[in-house]
Amino acid sequence: MLASLRKEVLYGGRALLRDNYLSRRLMWRLVGQERLAPEALQDLQHRLLRRSMQAAVAALPYYRHIRSDFSAAEAPQALRELFPVIDKPTLLQQPAALYPHGGRKRVWEAWGKTSGTTGSPLTIIRSMASVQMEQAFIKRHWTWGGFHDGMRRASLRGDLVAAPERRQPPFWFYNRYNQQLLLSSRHLNEACVDAIIDELERFAPAMLQAYPSTAYTLAQFLQRRGRRLRIPVLFSASEPLYPHQQELIEQWLAPKIMDMYGMAERVAFATQCEHGETHINPDYSYVEILDEQGRPTEDYGHIVGTTFHNLSQPLLRYRLSDRSRWKPGQCRCGRPFPMIESVTGKLEDAITGGDGAFVSPSVLTFAFKGVQHIRKSQVAQTAPGQWEIRLVPDAGFSAADSELLLRNIRELVDATVQARVVLRDELPNTAAGKFRWVVNESPRSSF
Ligand SMILES: [Zn+2]
Repeated sequence: MLASLRKEVLYGGRALLRDNYLSRRLMWRLVGQERLAPEALQDLQHRLLRRSMQAAVAALPYYRHIRSDFSAAEAPQALRELFPVIDKPTLLQQPAALYPHGGRKRVWEAWGKTSGTTGSPLTIIRSMASVQMEQAFIKRHWTWGGFHDGMRRASLRGDLVAAPERRQPPFWFYNRYNQQLLLSSRHLNEACVDAIIDELERFAPAMLQAYPSTAYTLAQFLQRRGRRLRIPVLFSASEPLYPHQQELIEQWLAPKIMDMYGMAERVAFATQCEHGETHINPDYSYVEILDEQGRPTEDYGHIVGTTFHNLSQPLLRYRLSDRSRWKPGQCRCGRPFPMIESVTGKLEDAITGGDGAFVSPSVLTFAFKGVQHIRKSQVAQTAPGQWEIRLVPDAGFSAADSELLLRNIRELVDATVQARVVLRDELPNTAAGKFRWVVNESPRSSF
């Protein structure tokens, strides 16, 4: 009773903050920006960039020596020449220089926290305006999939909406402030999933928000039961979306997937359009792709972003461990937003083959072609040139399945890597309810 009252207050309060008249106006302004001529969009970008750089010089001791009397048109060049690339370790090591007013949050500001799934957790001070802007950008992406406020939505992510030990429905919470059905991903198991599928069918949402791994798990249950849901669009985020996941999800759960890429530091935001292309949102932040030496590259490099909207603690040229590459050309959707290749996983989780070269997770999915009786899998690098393929087997799993898997690895992925199959009862999610399909556990001297 108390728990459900707490949820009412939490979601009611969130709706007041995020879904008000102002946030709707912001969203429509952003929708208008999608139709700007390229030159007008660039002008806007340069003005926003200069504003962030000036705010950083004013608020953060790290930049205090920099003169900020450059024009908006000069801002990109000034950024490259005067502002060094920083990353998470820089923030952790020099808090006095990179946090405003001595690292104390003001009452009207909010804390933003990284999950810490890879490395140390980090907190950022966010302005209220940036919190509202974030929602407006997310909602602009929703319009790309035909979803608008007021329609019904469901979500299947890390929300704690039912106690994990609960064995009787409901395994969900109805947030009436947003017509939102929040399902507990911790109950995606043999005993509870039928009730979840029934509830989704009854609720008939216009869209589903999910992690790729939770949507994939649900799609697997649907496939095994021969039940099909056709939720018009699935908005996925927070983890890389692999081709094998996309295929099964589209077949059993939602025919259209639109992925979104963002992070707690909020220095880059990329969204998948109707044509499957991933667009950097150039009115969200200023994005560079830089090689290991910090030079711009046309090849794969680190995503480095400069905030436009969090002026409380402006992160400038903040390097993420995610990697991508610019994709030249113009998308058929007509938006003047640059395209990137889909973002590969965290560098910390990148794995290498027998010759030490990186192996793309998309290539890794070939190993599972035609292999049956696997409920869940994870590929871990345990040492240079050594992989452990962890499987939660399904009924009917036999040595033939693991032999096929190992043969696929040799023939389709990497002939020289030493791979072995290990069976597990469970492959747990992280504390945030996410799942890392590819992990690198090999001790390394540098990265
Ligand atoms: Zn497009």
